[in-house]
Amino acid sequence: MNTLKGRMIASYSLISLLIIVILGILINFSVDKGFENYAITQRSQQIDSIISQVNQQFDEGTDLYNVDGLEMIGNAALQNGIFMHVQTLKKEIDWDIQQHKAQECMIQLQHTDKNMHSLYPNFQGGYTEDTYDLKYNDKVVGYLTAGYYGPYSLNDNELILIKGLNRSIIILGVVFLLIAIIFGIFMARHVAAPIVKATKAAQKIAGGDFEVQIQETTSMRETARLINSINEMAEELKRNEQQKKQLSADVAHELRTPLNNLQSHMEAMIDKIWEPSTERLQSCHVEIMRLTQIVTQLQDLYTLESKNTHIESDYFDFIDLYKSIFTDFEMTIKSKGIRLMGQIPSPAPIYANMPRLKQCMVNLISNAIHYTPEGKNVTVIYEKQENHIELRVCDEGSGIAAEELSHIFERFYRVDKSRSYMTGGMGVGLSITKAIIEAHGGTIYAESQKETGTTFIISLPWGDFDNHHKIPISLG
Ligand code: ADP
Repeated sequence: MNTLKGRMIASYSLISLLIIVILGILINFSVDKGFENYAITQRSQQIDSIISQVNQQFDEGTDLYNVDGLEMIGNAALQNGIFMHVQTLKKEIDWDIQQHKAQECMIQLQHTDKNMHSLYPNFQGGYTEDTYDLKYNDKVVGYLTAGYYGPYSLNDNELILIKGLNRSIIILGVVFLLIAIIFGIFMARHVAAPIVKATKAAQKIAGGDFEVQIQETTSMRETARLINSINEMAEELKRNEQQKKQLSADVAHELRTPLNNLQSHMEAMIDKIWEPSTERLQSCHVEIMRLTQIVTQLQDLYTLESKNTHIESDYFDFIDLYKSIFTDFEMTIKSKGIRLMGQIPSPAPIYANMPRLKQCMVNLISNAIHYTPEGKNVTVIYEKQENHIELRVCDEGSGIAAEELSHIFERFYRVDKSRSYMTGGMGVGLSITKAIIEAHGGTIYAESQKETGTTFIISLPWGDFDNHHKIPISLG
């Protein structure tokens, strides 16, 4: 009974039973009431008919009733359970069936009483009589007393009919209850089966099996949502697990080279193969710095990718950010012979975390500068769209092949595999950039053509500029 299926069957059966019992009682009550009204009306019609028959037996000449006629009427009335007693005014005639057929009257009464009690054990009934005036030409000439079992009674045939009806109601009730239980079992199975499957799948997932997928289809919206959520949860956990494995492998791979270098340098110096010169110690220091950078970047990425990272944003002018980046890169672009240009309106309002957005722009611009040959341009464009801001970093560099383009935002992904950690990036810069932009509620993607150049397009939400009390710049 503690299972969903058990509870559903039990409650379904209980409700059905309740409905059937209430319906049974109502039907039974209206049948009984109907028969009671019918019996009372019929008896009153029978008495009316007896009175009219008795009136026909009156002889105007003698002012008396024909006794033979009265006997016939009285015997017939007895068959219908009515005990007739006729008296003339001066009691010249005093004909009473109970004097003529006392025993039959008694048997009749006892039989009716037994009948009524067999149907209604608590029936409150007994002998009753009513007296009526007998008139001739509107003059009272006598009295008729009709005795009967009251307040009402049913004859043998009526009794058989009511008992049959009651039996049919009970049989119908039992049949309906059985149908309801069978239907309840079917419904409970229909409802419970997908939930049981979902529970089993959730247990497997809890046990670490993320390959589970529930195939069950159901038309019930809530259950379908539950199944979808469990399937999505399994997929998400599987993805996380794979990412975790991949990350461990990538980190191990990235750390191995500087660690190996450090180890061999140290061993050579310990074994006195190498003198611990300043130059060699500096080389070790570079490796250590490199290791620190890898760990710092990974930590940054981990923080940004955890779902509840909150980025504090504020309103500022993008031109200020661009100017500060330009100053940082001034020497590099000069020495490489590249032009860094900004197509930025004034003012260029933006709602973001300034240091984090700077980190993104520095990543993109330094990549652009790195891949752009001498004499070419790197352009930063700001454009306000209908409900977002678009920032583009375009270069005229080597470009990225279409099959590589979809991977560049993956951590540790480098298009040029030969580009070692010594020559710069370790393939985390774009992952961090993407994580920062997404933490702002924005998006980033790249468009590129081999040998023509690459454009990175960032889209940031417009923010609440229109209502913000701190609007620092006119929106033009
Ligand atoms: P890295 O630290 O190696 O630069 P990133 O995550 O910043 O790593 O970039 C991933 C890879 O994407 C780079 O190794 C490079 O191959 C490619 N890439 C990024 N920006 C550009 C660009 N502007 N032009 C060509 N290739 C690029």
